[in-house]
Amino acid sequence: MIQGTVIRVDARGCVVFAEGEELFCRVRGRFYEDIEGQKRPIAPGDRVSISRTSEGEGAVEEIEPRRTRLSRQAAHGEREQVIAANVDQVAIIVSVKNPPLRPGLIDRLIIAASNQAIEPFVVINKIDLGIAKKVGKVRDTFRELGYEVLYTSATEGTGVPHLALRLADRTTVFAGHSGVGKSSLLNAIHPELHLATGSVSKRTTKGRHTTTRATLFPLPAGGYVVDTPGVRAFGLWDVEKADLDIFFREFQPLIEQCRFYDCTHDHEPDCAVRAAVEAGEVRRPRYDAYLRIMRSLEGEQR
Ligand code: GDP
Ligand code: ZN
Repeated sequence: MIQGTVIRVDARGCVVFAEGEELFCRVRGRFYEDIEGQKRPIAPGDRVSISRTSEGEGAVEEIEPRRTRLSRQAAHGEREQVIAANVDQVAIIVSVKNPPLRPGLIDRLIIAASNQAIEPFVVINKIDLGIAKKVGKVRDTFRELGYEVLYTSATEGTGVPHLALRLADRTTVFAGHSGVGKSSLLNAIHPELHLATGSVSKRTTKGRHTTTRATLFPLPAGGYVVDTPGVRAFGLWDVEKADLDIFFREFQPLIEQCRFYDCTHDHEPDCAVRAAVEAGEVRRPRYDAYLRIMRSLEGEQR
């Protein structure tokens, strides 16, 4: 038996990086019997023991318990989709424009990461296209909350060395909408990866696997990056509506001052969170994000 790390998963099996090569491995049927509502028993980042079955091929014999996992609600149905296992941090990547900056995904990914003790940080890419006031506000918002926010330009190289340092020796998920520059940033850090970029070339078969499913890249400098397909909607997994306020850091000192212990900070009288929003002490876009996510959890949990 040899030890390896799962790089990519599909319906037929997975690709495992072990002893310096990539082996296509079957996943034994018994692993599908006990997956506790997960879509698949295995995900990129899983540490596995495999046996070799033939040249370039093997079979997964053991899956190590996961340290952490970044999950979302699977697109169809009530199941958990593990995007990647054994993740240390999530780089939440947005762009200043093309596509326009929508902070909604930042709020959601911070929750998904914090729920698993995975460290989130934000990367605002394409700053060569100009930094509008709204962009600066988004940066200030998340910096004030204590999250690191980097400005980058994959095309001009701004901020790329800092991002490269941040990735070294850790497992990082690159998450963000399609077109924000995830592949371009990875190429800027490690040109030898030769990732397909731009929506047109990605639709060709050559670069297809890089965009249709999450893939783990071993970085030459140590560590791994999981490049995810562009996430359009990120359904939260394993977050209860009643616990949502825990994930909004700025609400923390206020929650116990609400009149009702189970205050949802929506319509209740004497709500300290709403009072703080009115007083300008909590930023309104964050409060609005809280309400939106709460409503979506009501829908998801029905
Ligand atoms: P992904 O879908 O997130 O992997 O995005 P890509 O890396 O494929 O980039 C999408 C498009 O944005 C491509 O046409 C890139 O050339 C462009 N792009 C990526 N990074 C930058 C940047 O920093 N500045 C500018 N101006 N364009 C960029
Ligand atoms: Zn309240």
